[in-house]
Amino acid sequence: MKIASGGIQHETNTFAATPTSLADFIRDSNCGANLDGGSVVFDRFRDTGTIHGGYIDGAEAEQFELIPLLCARAQPSGVVEQQCFDDMLNRFLDRLRNVQPVDGVLLDLHGAMVSERHDDAEGAIIAASRDVVGEGIPIVVTLDLHANISARMARMSNVIIGFDTYPHVDMRNRGSEAARLLARIVRGEVVPVQEYRQLPLITLPPMQCTLRDPMQSLMRRVNGLEQQPGILTATVSMGFPFADIPDAGVSVLVTSDNDRKLAADGANELAQLLWDLRDDLQPRLTTIEDAIQYVRNHAESGPVIFADGSDNPGGGAPCDGTVALAALMKSGIEGAVVGVLFDPETAAQAHAAGTGSTIRVKLGGKTDTMHGAPIEADACVRELCDGRFVYQGAMMQGVEDHLGPTATLVVGGVEVVVSSVRRQCLDAQMLRVADIDPTKRRLIVLKSAVHFRADFGPMAAQIFDADTPGIHRPDFSCFEYRMVRSPIYPLDPDTQWQPA
Ligand SMILES: [Zn+2]
Repeated sequence: MKIASGGIQHETNTFAATPTSLADFIRDSNCGANLDGGSVVFDRFRDTGTIHGGYIDGAEAEQFELIPLLCARAQPSGVVEQQCFDDMLNRFLDRLRNVQPVDGVLLDLHGAMVSERHDDAEGAIIAASRDVVGEGIPIVVTLDLHANISARMARMSNVIIGFDTYPHVDMRNRGSEAARLLARIVRGEVVPVQEYRQLPLITLPPMQCTLRDPMQSLMRRVNGLEQQPGILTATVSMGFPFADIPDAGVSVLVTSDNDRKLAADGANELAQLLWDLRDDLQPRLTTIEDAIQYVRNHAESGPVIFADGSDNPGGGAPCDGTVALAALMKSGIEGAVVGVLFDPETAAQAHAAGTGSTIRVKLGGKTDTMHGAPIEADACVRELCDGRFVYQGAMMQGVEDHLGPTATLVVGGVEVVVSSVRRQCLDAQMLRVADIDPTKRRLIVLKSAVHFRADFGPMAAQIFDADTPGIHRPDFSCFEYRMVRSPIYPLDPDTQWQPA
């Protein structure tokens, strides 16, 4: 059995100023300038907490030949340049044609990519792949929990399997599930019938977290449904809300073994459960001033974490916002850290000056005007490093990554880890590599909405969802939507709905 695999992954924030280019994909994929497949993919992803790590597990368990053709991803950011999208898709399709015939295709996609010409970029990828392999060859797609799933994506694929977790700690399991299910389909053991429901509902990151309710209970029901005889898999996709496209928001997929009614009943049940939770999915936010006051009032054993999700690069934000940093400097609080702030100019300046020197910086606030102004101050260069690290927490465990040349500065009494590459601070290694032990700090501002909880959660004494400005702010009143379908809750508060 020959199974081809490919991945083109991007979560596109249509409110972000910076477009996404091929250079971004080449830098972030770490698979060479040709976005190579083959052995590069095996070397990079074997035994890692990733979808392709799971495909490799599944191929070994089911004894099929996995042929990875391309595995490209870029840090979430603005709309993908059309030429970049076409270039990556054409490379993938050429390689797919060259390995024909195959028995099946695994697609490792995000589900919330927008290019200049495609609101539904994954729909375009799946449809183009279908054109190459034909109707009779099964295509199984894995998607992020933040996928904005379109009817076209559901129609053009045989099965879609979404992550069940946020933080995304089940990528390897979902990849393995997809590979094993595809093998069963190819052998004729099961006949997948997929039912799709799109809800008139859009939700925000903090409450999409599956480590707390209501999502924790809902995912228990999803997993319960998957144990039911005749059900092959079930997905609740919470969607990526910072994309003004028709399909942004929540959808449900249930796949049965050749039983349309069973799949439809399951999809309707999950959709109704989600709809009933719509008011519980609204977040509550805390200001940095209130978080500082909380730290002063509580002598806790672990750090208090201020989750600055509004500036989360994992959702396309600049990662150079200064609002929380400015408040920390003004407060004079001790033991405060900001991690990780993206500012390649300042990192280079610190590296040129050397450890122990004092430099005049214009720190952060450079990408746009929505995340606070640059901070002009004297900074002490406490530590310098090359920013290389391996994820050790439950999410992306084992994957090698880098922050670029990195500097630990002390600015106005606050430690700031300044990187040359935009990365969401979701793993404590990203601070340790900069000589900061997070367990020994009192208040840590993390440029992350939810993913940090996988690694930082167990050590945190308290976690606050930040009330800061930004293009990833979990507050719909800050964004002007023109393209999203209407009516949609809560943008249209009177929205009524019943599953079909
Ligand atoms: Zn996600």
